[in-house]
Amino acid sequence: MGAPVATPVAGKVNLLDLDRRDLEAFCVALGEKSFRAAQIMKWIYHERVTDFAAMTNLSKALRERLAACAEIRPPELALDQGSRDGSHKWLIRLDSGNCIETVFIPEPDRGTLCVSSQIGCPLDCSFCATARQGFNRNLTVSEIIGQVWQASQSLGEVRNGNRAITNIVLMGMGEPLLNFDNVVKATDLMQDDLGFGISKRRVTLSTAGVVPALYRLKEVSEVSLAVSLHAPDDGLRNQLVPLNRKYPIAELLAACRHYIAGRPHRRITWEYVLLEGVNDSEAQAHALAALVESIPSKINLIPFNPFPDAGYRRSGPAAIARFQAILTARGLTAITRKTRGDDIAAACGQLAGQVQARGRRPGRPLRLAS
Ligand code: SAH
Repeated sequence: MGAPVATPVAGKVNLLDLDRRDLEAFCVALGEKSFRAAQIMKWIYHERVTDFAAMTNLSKALRERLAACAEIRPPELALDQGSRDGSHKWLIRLDSGNCIETVFIPEPDRGTLCVSSQIGCPLDCSFCATARQGFNRNLTVSEIIGQVWQASQSLGEVRNGNRAITNIVLMGMGEPLLNFDNVVKATDLMQDDLGFGISKRRVTLSTAGVVPALYRLKEVSEVSLAVSLHAPDDGLRNQLVPLNRKYPIAELLAACRHYIAGRPHRRITWEYVLLEGVNDSEAQAHALAALVESIPSKINLIPFNPFPDAGYRRSGPAAIARFQAILTARGLTAITRKTRGDDIAAACGQLAGQVQARGRRPGRPLRLAS
């Protein structure tokens, strides 16, 4: 199952931790021309080669030098699970018993890979299974891009003549903007033609709204943005997404406007989990429309995915249809996300992995590094 995985070798650089610029610098430091980086990247990401000996367009001497000081070590697959509906979930084993999850959702016109950015999550959103696991640490670049590497390997590069993975969303475990540098490097590798070559707009970062990081992101990245809104007013959002106490809705919307300003054809995807009797009333649909209608937007309504002791119920089909109809009648694009992978707990908000939480017990106040 999966690709060969080596144990870390002390002092060796894992090349999956390097983006194109880093790898060029690494080659120059070895006394090579920087274009060697392009050759090596093609082997790693296009051919998914982990053994330097197979890189036949590099000199034997260089291959041996690389083998002595570097390695290509994706994270280890612990479980590869298929769902009845064609979805796929991989459990990826990291250090000291920690596991993260990666999910693939095939649709007729696309294949979406949902990638994790942290082990657990510190944000403590009240309706999310990952939050219950607590937080351990940020993923490294190799652990993030390694999820794409392993999924590509497992799915095979092409399916029915098409690429299996056409879209990548950072909507798995964790808050990507709290792992800023590693997430930016990993998304660069997803988009880089020498990396996985996914089109810029088809790599989407989903955030609960770390406002200062959104301003920084605009300076360094062109990923598409999805924002977990879930409530049309600060009172309710403070309860559902505690991060809102630090960055309230008005500040979040201003940061989102800034992110797409000057970028034609870009819009913000607003995610809104529908919780029965909590955020699914007609008045709340109108309030949501009023908030976002001046911003180029698409609204993803997500039927709540239950997990044990969640304390919420999914809105009924009539309430979901009514909520969506109000948004549509006001001229907004609103879609209800189909729930996929229920039978393997691979649906939104159900990713739990296996997290050895550090330093935070349930009930302790949230502290955020900004
Ligand atoms: N931290 C990031 C990305 C991870 S969550 C964020 O907040 O956007 C990915 C999406 O799944 C978010 O919109 C999140 O709110 C949603 N989600 C979390 N728990 C859910 C659940 N139980 N049912 C449906 N969606 C859920």
